[in-house]
Amino acid sequence: MKQIALLGATGSIGDSAIDVITRHPERYQLSVLTAHTQWQKCAHLCARLQVPFAVLSDAHDAADFLNVAPNTQLYFGPQGLIDCLQHADTVITGIVGAAGLAPTLAAARAGKTLLLANKEPLVCAGELVVQEAKASGAKILPLDSEHNAIFQCLHHGVLGAGVEKILLTASGGPFLHLPLDDLKHVTPAQACKHPNWVMGQKISVDSASMMNKGLEVIEARWLFDCPAEQIEVLIHPQSVVHSMVQYLDGSVLAQMGQPDMRTPIAHALAYPERISSGVSALDFSQLTALTFMPPDLTRFPCLRLAYAALQQGGLAPCVLNAANEVAVARFLNHELAFTDIPRVLEKALSAIATPCHYDEETIFEFDALTRTYTKNLAV
Ligand code: NAD
Ligand code: MG
Repeated sequence: MKQIALLGATGSIGDSAIDVITRHPERYQLSVLTAHTQWQKCAHLCARLQVPFAVLSDAHDAADFLNVAPNTQLYFGPQGLIDCLQHADTVITGIVGAAGLAPTLAAARAGKTLLLANKEPLVCAGELVVQEAKASGAKILPLDSEHNAIFQCLHHGVLGAGVEKILLTASGGPFLHLPLDDLKHVTPAQACKHPNWVMGQKISVDSASMMNKGLEVIEARWLFDCPAEQIEVLIHPQSVVHSMVQYLDGSVLAQMGQPDMRTPIAHALAYPERISSGVSALDFSQLTALTFMPPDLTRFPCLRLAYAALQQGGLAPCVLNAANEVAVARFLNHELAFTDIPRVLEKALSAIATPCHYDEETIFEFDALTRTYTKNLAV
């Protein structure tokens, strides 16, 4: 019986993970759920699923929480996200943003099996997360659909000598065909309306700007120890091929399926076995054409900036990520135009000089410094 800590249980990844896990009560037990603002949703889940431990960001919600879920023991705040890990052998990371970095690192250090959806920690500190996992023997399995697809197309997830490149697919988001001049007027509601996936707000805006694909290039770099030159982004508007691996002999392997996160979650949970996920198979007789094209970097400057940050190395991706988190929050708050997002990133990357050598403390320092710099930045 696997004991699972589900970090970010109240979000979109949380919903999908709970759906898969509760289909297999003989294999998986939810031992920890964590919530940020949605303590009510978390309390009802804990009561219904008899979850023994939960983590809340705000201790003020404890009394109301315990009225709903009296048998659940509570932890609080950032330290709680780390302390709760002792009750699990498998950790699903579904927190959004760098807020998930400390628990991800702690889980890697503690030798847990890590099912990673939360990509921002890999962007800020991928080298460190992977090193810590290696040192402790922690297994890392990607949940991000593209990385899970790549994992499936590689031999046991390892990039061997015969691999020529990774073909990372991207839907292109809701603004793939919008006239360029209209981009500056798009609203948060339009940006959050992804054509193929239902996800949290932040990743939806990132998908619209293609920053999400930029973050995923950096994520792939660390997950598969693959240089940026071997990672190629391809627009594939139908989101049927979730990514591909091209081999030396001319073979290209693709993983295909419905755009539903329950598939990669089920894959990673059961690996190397297979379990049902609740997702139906593709019906190839009903599929329309599958199309592919290179991304337009004038339309999607965020993707160019992500490659540039990766090239620069060190903490440049950490600065890029923190600047993006702030810029997206300001866009969602109607403080910035959609087209201001890459401007904020560009300014932060050129204003903040980062060291090549860093440790964990420096990562948090540059994350905080970048947030302060970008919070009121005029563009
Ligand atoms: P979401 O906004 O729906 O949920 C975010 C979760 O994080 C919530 O449970 C919230 O309680 C928690 N959270 C937010 N801020 C927190 C903080 N400061 N401290 C503690 N907890 C906090 O987001 P999502 O769409 O589920 O995405 C979660 C992560 O998974 C992101 O990193 C995203 O890039 C990645 N991801 C999501 C999808 C998807 O389909 N949703 C696909 C691939 C990768
Ligand atoms: Mg993805």
